Amino acid sequence: MSRIRPADRHSIREAAAILAEGGVVAFPTETVYGLGAVVTLDRAIARVFAVKGRPARNPLIAHVAEVAAARPIVQFDERAERLAAAFWPGPLTLVLPLKVGSIVSPLVTAGLPTLAVRLPAHPVARELLGTLGLPVAAPSANRSGRPSPTQAQHVLADLGDAIDLVLDGGACPLGVESTVIDLSEPGRAVLLRPGGVPRRAVEEVIGPLAERRLEEPVRSPGLLGRHYAPSKPLRLEAREVAPDEALLAFGPVVPKGARRTLNLSPKGDLAEAAAHLFAMLRELDRDDVRAIAVMPIPSTGLGEAINDRLRRAALPPEPAAS
Ligand code: AMP
Ligand code: MG
Repeated sequence: MSRIRPADRHSIREAAAILAEGGVVAFPTETVYGLGAVVTLDRAIARVFAVKGRPARNPLIAHVAEVAAARPIVQFDERAERLAAAFWPGPLTLVLPLKVGSIVSPLVTAGLPTLAVRLPAHPVARELLGTLGLPVAAPSANRSGRPSPTQAQHVLADLGDAIDLVLDGGACPLGVESTVIDLSEPGRAVLLRPGGVPRRAVEEVIGPLAERRLEEPVRSPGLLGRHYAPSKPLRLEAREVAPDEALLAFGPVVPKGARRTLNLSPKGDLAEAAAHLFAMLRELDRDDVRAIAVMPIPSTGLGEAINDRLRRAALPPEPAAS
């Protein structure tokens, strides 16, 4: 098994040294655990793709300790400045034009002329990035297509000893990934992935968000195919449940009769539900159930991200999952 260390000053310094030498390290963020490698080191980045089983056409998000660390690699326009000021540090990712001559490995961007950047809020992530002083590409630290890891143990369960170190910072407080906004085209802001910052909050800062054009090449493969998925099939919008099903419940009124039931939030709180989502999906994913039934969840606020993940997890299996 990989080494797992409680995140403290010493282990964070050790993690920064491993990354600087070209290693790969899993660390907590406020969204989910990330699997990090320095953005300039091709071999380390290639290892992140290999360890996850992630298709090379699925670009990574670069994480920075401060806005100043993003300026040499991407071009901020006025909308990007406003969003960064409003939501960084936090669960918002901006897709921006890559600067010409940038030292970022083309593996990170999957060869695109754009780069996704984020300034995370989690104190362990911030201390790690600050100590290292270099941007770190960090997709979720799970096998490609699986539910994202929100606890250090999930990382070990998926990636075993294939990585150099896991910093254990406890459960991730938000529990769903960042909102991804594409600002690479002037005058057009596109919601590529709903996430921790609700759509309305973004629109209050930069105005209405466009939907991805259908004929457009899919630039955000998190939007493609089965993803975030347990091994058992999911059945959504469940209002009753069969005896051979597990039930992922939401709210105070829960149908009886499931083999096993976990409640995302008995009081119907979407932030609590987001924080429990991936851990409960993993916990219900056992051989003694035929399927996992999921109760309806409202699509307001964080509910848009929760329902997005559930819909993708419920898609039928297909080999191109990323
Ligand atoms: P994750 O799988 O959690 O690392 O998610 C990263 C998300 O950001 C994926 O949906 C990526 O496709 C998206 N992303 C990263 N870089 C870019 C980029 N340059 N252009 C568009 N989307 C990107
Ligand atoms: Mg992921």
